[in-house]
Amino acid sequence: MHELSLVLNIVEIADEQAKNHQAREVESIELEIGELAGVEMDAFLFAWDAAVRDTVLENAERIIRRIPGKARCAECGLEYETGQLFEACPACGEYLNELIQGRELRVRSLVVH
Ligand SMILES: [Zn+2]
Repeated sequence: MHELSLVLNIVEIADEQAKNHQAREVESIELEIGELAGVEMDAFLFAWDAAVRDTVLENAERIIRRIPGKARCAECGLEYETGQLFEACPACGEYLNELIQGRELRVRSLVVH
């Protein structure tokens, strides 16, 4: 499962950060997950609950920021929000675009104690 490996990766990052700060626990963790990052949120949250047990993240407050998809039209340059990878430009109807936002998948911040 793709989501589980994502969570395990986050646990690893958190573990390293906690060690660097000689902390036993992470108090809160803030994640950025783009709406076009291909993450199934239900699966992600399910995997999270299972994977953080007995780790530094077990009691951490989890803050998730969803980043909406945004594309720039290759034809007219319009920037528009999009919920999918292939969506026509609302101004000119062109399908060719450059995704400028929405694929983020990162730990934005984490607080240890
Ligand atoms: Zn356009």
